[in-house]
Amino acid sequence: MTKIYLDHAATTPLSDNVLKKMTPYFTEVFGNADSPHAAGRKAIGAVDTARDSVAALLGAKPSEIYFTSGGTEADNWAVIGGAYAQKRQGKTHVIVSAIEHHAVLYAAEKLRGEGFEVTYLPVNEGGMVELNALKAAITEDTGLVAVMYANNETGVVQPIKELADIAHAHGALFFTDAVQAAPYISLDVKALQVDMLSFSAHKFYGPKGCGVLYIKSGVKIERFVGGGEQERGLRGGTTNVPAVVGLAAALEENTATMYEMNEHISHLRTVFLEEVSAVEGVSVNGKGEQVPSVLNLRVEGVQNVDLLYNLDLKGIYIAVGSACASGSIAPSHVLLAMGLSEKEAKESVRISFGKNNTVEECMQAARIFKETVEKLREKQK
Ligand code: PLP
Repeated sequence: MTKIYLDHAATTPLSDNVLKKMTPYFTEVFGNADSPHAAGRKAIGAVDTARDSVAALLGAKPSEIYFTSGGTEADNWAVIGGAYAQKRQGKTHVIVSAIEHHAVLYAAEKLRGEGFEVTYLPVNEGGMVELNALKAAITEDTGLVAVMYANNETGVVQPIKELADIAHAHGALFFTDAVQAAPYISLDVKALQVDMLSFSAHKFYGPKGCGVLYIKSGVKIERFVGGGEQERGLRGGTTNVPAVVGLAAALEENTATMYEMNEHISHLRTVFLEEVSAVEGVSVNGKGEQVPSVLNLRVEGVQNVDLLYNLDLKGIYIAVGSACASGSIAPSHVLLAMGLSEKEAKESVRISFGKNNTVEECMQAARIFKETVEKLREKQK
């Protein structure tokens, strides 16, 4: 049966080369990276090498790189740990964009429950946070501003450096969730002028369950996971050595091949879009600069879950808005924030291409997409 995976914004397959580099750390080099004996020293050596490599790719210092269990933990930590530290300076206002990943929104709501004032920044109809929105919301009380680099549902890229400048002019910390940007845009923390930045290995052909929080030196942030002195006393827990090695290897490979990969993926997106644009009532959600992989489409008159499950039966894997814990599908908060109605948001799907997809596959997927849309519309008549 056809199997065409078009959900790379959810996760990517592990690169063969990365797996090869990780494998010895599951077997021969299994020591605890905190043990002082030779087995532990071998493990910590690998972690140090990985940290040096990640730091170099970000233009950061190794001491500014903290390994976490993924993007969610890094996001929770940046927002909660950053806000707690700022509270000590008397700043209890936090600003996050309305289109953040739930890992950031959860943290913001937790802070609100604890008495912090939280402002959700609106986006324009293209899905971008406008600088004026931040200028209007920020006060001298603002301790932290969080705006993601690229949105996970629309791929829209945000003006991070300009937003960070506004935050800094008011003495606030600036954090960006770069989980969806990292596979496609090289991260240069100095150019971006951010205080904190997160990303996750499984979005760029690395292992699941491993991420990074970059914390600029001098920035104060409270620890989030306690009970061990790992990661310079700020993040407890036995280091996941194979995953850290894998994260660094995946980031190196991704950075080295980014230009060609982006060209290839952009082409796939164009080919797919051209083909499905022939269907009436199909439009793209999101405008302006976007990461090449993500295509968010509204298909008028078709419920996104029906489309997802019907495509699934044909071996085509795509995504829809936000899945609730109950398994039911809520309309995407991102699309609602862009001004789409609940009905329009529930007619929207996300297709995300990856480096291993071929043009032929994408043409085939687009043809099946078109047929499925037509059949679903026919049924409703
Ligand atoms: N932030 C964004 C923008 C994401 O897309 C995701 C994952 O989908 C996360 C955070 C969470 O990352 P992880 O899956 O590593 O916990």
